[in-house]
Amino acid sequence: MAEEKKMTRGEQLRKALCYTKKNGYDKVEAAELEAMETYSIGYKQFLDAGKTERECVDYTIRLAEAAGFKEYKRGMELKAGDKVYQVNRGKAIVLAVMGQKGLEHGVSIGAAHIDAPRIDMKQNPLYEADELAFLKTHYYGGIRKYQWVAIPLELHGVVVLKNGETIRVSVGNGEGDPVFTIDDLLPHLGVEQSKKPLGEAIPGESLNILVGSRPFADDEGENRVKLCTLELLHKRYGIVEEDFVSAELSVVPAFKASDVGFDRSMIGAYGHDDRVCSYAALAAILQIEHPERTAICMLADKEEIGSEGVTGMKSAAFDTFMEDLCAGQNVPLRVCYENSFCLSADVTAAYDPNFADVYEKRNSALVNYGIGICKYTGSRGKSGASDASAEVVAKVRSIFDEANVLWQTAELGKVDAGGGGTVAMYMAERNIDTLDAGVPVLSMHAPFETVGKLDCYMTFKGMKAIFEAK
Ligand code: MN
Ligand code: MN
Repeated sequence: MAEEKKMTRGEQLRKALCYTKKNGYDKVEAAELEAMETYSIGYKQFLDAGKTERECVDYTIRLAEAAGFKEYKRGMELKAGDKVYQVNRGKAIVLAVMGQKGLEHGVSIGAAHIDAPRIDMKQNPLYEADELAFLKTHYYGGIRKYQWVAIPLELHGVVVLKNGETIRVSVGNGEGDPVFTIDDLLPHLGVEQSKKPLGEAIPGESLNILVGSRPFADDEGENRVKLCTLELLHKRYGIVEEDFVSAELSVVPAFKASDVGFDRSMIGAYGHDDRVCSYAALAAILQIEHPERTAICMLADKEEIGSEGVTGMKSAAFDTFMEDLCAGQNVPLRVCYENSFCLSADVTAAYDPNFADVYEKRNSALVNYGIGICKYTGSRGKSGASDASAEVVAKVRSIFDEANVLWQTAELGKVDAGGGGTVAMYMAERNIDTLDAGVPVLSMHAPFETVGKLDCYMTFKGMKAIFEAK
């Protein structure tokens, strides 16, 4: 037997006192790698099925019902272990698994968002210019416009007719479907454009979607390409031009979620922000049976434009649902809230060695180092952050360690390099202790974002540990 090498006093001290970050692959157990791969397959399916918040809600309902969740109706009598969900206007969804303890002991919330940056159609979008048909757009969320030109795009959304009938539109996602695109200038003629700053080279009003080029036959009138397009839309969807007024149509990248790298250790896709944490919270709550405290998974809309609106996290829809649950147990909502905890599960910036100067590496989240705990987000002097208290961070740290969740600390880049926010502050405003944590992402908000599979899986494990915590 080899004699064990004795540690020097310095080595002992270093081991006992120093906080060292370690790559998750050096810590994770072999058995978990398989679970991680299975989890990643489910996540990629979620991404491909949910290109908009409405589609994410539909897919979530399918998974939830298969796992025994029932649609919640006000006044429903619920007992421990019951599983319910409620949809807010087709765009946000909240799921609950009732706990053994009453709601006066608070609930454990995982809150994420299912909307993602994209390009929306204007209300009067269709026009023809020089015998090409286009749709006028207004982008949604923080996009870098230059990234969205000359790539294949899919059209998703709804057209609601005056009679209230909703027509679903999804073109580009199906087998053999056509796609759309926004054309860009050829480099040969881009001399002047190339001199412009990145943020100005592609103006918002130039993000017009190319949708057709064939003129209507046997006609001498004007705008024959537009007419031909309208005829096709009428044949397929029964809509007329005025119906665009009450439509919500968006284009999103026509990419399927794919493994990235020779080692397949990463996933590239549109919409990781924040479907990667939404799926983590969802997959976790689907596995929860008889939690001690009631578990809540909140998948919100409108985070990318400030959590505004009736389906955003600022909306009272969440409070109404919680109040209805509380009413069933004669518990005041404020008592439930003050004893609750929320993990605001949203993505964070992954340290990118190609752009090292906007990060402070000691405090940045690294790919494959686990779920990133973000005590504060915001910009400048933490403006727009909920800044979780040390007590809350300590509790989460301990829950994660207990459950073998690999975690790291995270921040959104260097101080004064920029910044951003999440739904955390709106949960905290409700008098709910809240902490941000989520998956580090490369190329956040780009049409094709990249994450590490290990971090996705650890976020799921972290979410599950929160739901299972005493
Ligand atoms: Mn986000
Ligand atoms: Mn975002």
